[in-house]
Amino acid sequence: MADLGGAGERRLLTGWGRTAPTAATVVRPRTAAEVADALRAAAAPGGRGAIARGRGRAYGDAAQCAGGIVLDCADLAPGLRLDADAGTATASAGTGLAGLTAHLLARGFFVPVTPGTRHVTVGGAVAADIHGKNHHADSSFGAHVRSLRLVTPDGAERTVGPDRDPDLFWATVGGMGLTGVITEATFDVPRVATSAVRVDTDRVPDLDAALDLMAATDHRYRYTVCWIDLLARGAATGRGVLTRAHHAEAADLPPRARRDPLRYRPRTAAVAPPLVPPGLLNRWTVRAFNTAYHARAPRRERGRVQSLSGFFHPLDAVAGWNRLYGPHGLVQYQFAVPFGAEDELRRIVAGLSAAGAPSFLTVLKRFGAGTPAPLSFPRPGWTLALDLPADLPGLARLLRACDERVLAAGGRIYLAKDSRAAPAAVHAMYPDLAAWRAVRDRVDPDRVLTSDLARRLDL
Ligand SMILES: Cc1cc2nc3c(=O)[nH]c(=O)nc-3n(C[C@H](O)[C@H](O)[C@H](O)COP(=O)(O)OP(=O)(O)OC[C@H]3O[C@@H](n4cnc5c(N)ncnc54)[C@H](O)[C@@H]3O)c2cc1C
Repeated sequence: MADLGGAGERRLLTGWGRTAPTAATVVRPRTAAEVADALRAAAAPGGRGAIARGRGRAYGDAAQCAGGIVLDCADLAPGLRLDADAGTATASAGTGLAGLTAHLLARGFFVPVTPGTRHVTVGGAVAADIHGKNHHADSSFGAHVRSLRLVTPDGAERTVGPDRDPDLFWATVGGMGLTGVITEATFDVPRVATSAVRVDTDRVPDLDAALDLMAATDHRYRYTVCWIDLLARGAATGRGVLTRAHHAEAADLPPRARRDPLRYRPRTAAVAPPLVPPGLLNRWTVRAFNTAYHARAPRRERGRVQSLSGFFHPLDAVAGWNRLYGPHGLVQYQFAVPFGAEDELRRIVAGLSAAGAPSFLTVLKRFGAGTPAPLSFPRPGWTLALDLPADLPGLARLLRACDERVLAAGGRIYLAKDSRAAPAAVHAMYPDLAAWRAVRDRVDPDRVLTSDLARRLDL
């Protein structure tokens, strides 16, 4: 075990899926110098490497380092500066998107990209090059980053950006923490007039209807996403609920809300119980939920004004909802296939439906232009994300078959969601892996930065 002079606490860590716990020494550096100290300790003889961690919202083992050091970035030189004229924000890597969003909204700005939960950090957003419901319009988080401060294993704190050591910058965007510890990021922030969105909703009878409507109308909306009923079969396979939205203008709000159009009070409505027996979310309960959800959605609704948190982060209303999957946890599977591979997408959805895969959180999105980052997940095409109980019989076989189809279609799976893929499949899905490794080897020749994910997938 690395010598940290008594600092750090040994803890058992998992990702959001709560599978594959491993123990590491967790430290909470406050400065770049303390980050460098931790990396030095991890590199010492007997060290088992180190990795940064944000809020642990990656589903699998990306922010774990069995036997090594995990740098919890929560205390990293807290700081947040908005340059309203330039339209940029500079935030320490441990800044949560929840606090960042509140800070920005109060000043008439919003984050450039927000994922399905606000409980992620700026460091995690860059390291996974996260995408949101606006990917078709605005690409991923990395596309909005102007510069990063990064501590590399040699102890240096560097500034990198699209114009300053671009190879290291793009290897860090989507690089899953394996090129250095990000301490700070400067990124573009868009102006908004309100803390609400104007939402159009359409129930779609099957997958083809969803694909057609999204392809035909996505360009007219800033945000789109389609919830899919993965348990519907036959002619209804892939039926869903498509929601598309824009930021609301003050005039869109009800008269009372216009007095404080940027008011933002996201709430947690419930807390999942600490202990849930296995099997609560099964084929029957999920089918009942999906059927009710689809039936209750408006067939066609236009211009409903909704809060940002209700639209972007409905899951955050139930704290610890991942515990509902019981003691064995959950596996999230997210893949993307290029445009033109719709037949393969249909076959994957039909295969999952036929297998009775009990996912109540299945979402389909349309990706636009990607970033030059070699390990960034989004590429132009379709992406589907689903959650399944980790103890579902036959799960490993089912998802392996999906991997094969995704690969055959020229697609890939998302590393921030992965907890189970095989290295060969991932290597084939990311053809720029060799280019990324060349940069990683330049800054970290001894592979001090490593994670359970990096070891499992031989990155
Ligand atoms: C409910 C839910 C919904 C989600 N929806 C989406 C979505 O819509 N789109 C999407 O793209 N993702 C989504 N995610 C995944 C999530 O956005 C990413 O996994 C994100 O990276 C998590 O951020 P985090 O701060 O919790 O990082 P962690 O989970 O702690 O770490 C994730 C990765 O980032 C690295 N990292 C963290 N901090 C730093 C740092 N300071 N320096 C270097 N590397 C660092 C870690 O080493 C690790 O590899 C969702 C997750 C959940 C739980």
